Amino acid sequence: MQPVRGSDRQASGRLAVLGIAALWIGSVVQAAPAQSCLFNDAHFHLTNYVQQGTALPKYVGDIMGDKVCRSTVFGIPLQQTWSYENSGEFAPTYYLQSDAPLYYYSFTDAYIANAYLKLAPESRQRLDPMITGFNPADMYGVDHIRRVLETYPGVFSGIGEFTIHKEFVSSKVAGDIASLTDPALDRILDFAGEVGLAVIIHSDMDMPFAKAGAEPVFLKQMKDLLRRHPKTTIIWAHIGLGRVVHPVQGQAATGTTERNPAYREVVEGMLRDPTLSHVYFDISWDEVAKYAVASPESIRNTVELFNRYPDRFLFGTDNVAPPDQATQLRVYHLWDPIWEQLTPEAALKIRISNFERIFDKARADVRAWERANLK
Ligand SMILES: [Zn+2]
Repeated sequence: MQPVRGSDRQASGRLAVLGIAALWIGSVVQAAPAQSCLFNDAHFHLTNYVQQGTALPKYVGDIMGDKVCRSTVFGIPLQQTWSYENSGEFAPTYYLQSDAPLYYYSFTDAYIANAYLKLAPESRQRLDPMITGFNPADMYGVDHIRRVLETYPGVFSGIGEFTIHKEFVSSKVAGDIASLTDPALDRILDFAGEVGLAVIIHSDMDMPFAKAGAEPVFLKQMKDLLRRHPKTTIIWAHIGLGRVVHPVQGQAATGTTERNPAYREVVEGMLRDPTLSHVYFDISWDEVAKYAVASPESIRNTVELFNRYPDRFLFGTDNVAPPDQATQLRVYHLWDPIWEQLTPEAALKIRISNFERIFDKARADVRAWERANLK
């Protein structure tokens, strides 16, 4: 699918931005009036940690509505066990609400595919479903992904969000703990590259509550992993930040208990590195937005970074089963202080056109692989 639109350089103001969105909308998707279309959502969970969520027709019709042009869609692969021994009659719906383990709930992919296939074609055009129900610490994990493509051809554009290191979550997962150095993960990323599946990976850059003055623990492992898969399009979710893994401003961050390589330098180093040119960052999660707009300095830093590397960031909400459109738009508006200061070109790319470029290509590549490899 090739959206009709001018080059991003032509965007010289908000009206131009909207005009481009209007052209694209007019050519591909009839459903959303372009004037009000704010963004494409590169990171969206339809269901929560107990596989409950928003009905997909409601998501497209009422929640995306005329404000979100396109969206990824995935569940959460990890199911929180309701252990009566642990929480009794209290039914946990979030990983922080119980000590009981999480386990991989692979049926999530069938659930997402079935919901997608029931939609009208014009609604499907607006969605990029993602495969998540595999265990990245299992050498057989890749076989699940292939099996999902075989069972539901014509549906999926990528894999993820799946998680390697995440505060409090990693240690709750039943079975082996996932690792950036696990060959099972290399098999998955190799296969994603072969098929053309876009990848959204969550892995905190550092340990929670790490001490100041040292390299983030998982950063080198992550860069090594990314470099081993140059043919795979990989989106590092939340720019490697986590709930308790904060960005810090180098030596200026006195009194912090965090490690302090200047976070912006870490990210900029990766953006400049030609061996990492296949890597993108999503800026989803309200926790990330809070860091970015925390102070005039953080806003300035973020604006400079985005304006310098506008092709490498994608906006996403990281909402989980939102009940209404207001909830869906709240994360977007947390970024308003930054949207207002970006160049129109950078804002357009991060909100809309990087998503189009990456996911249009993923869709086309995966469909081509399916035609060539599935009978
Ligand atoms: Zn997420």
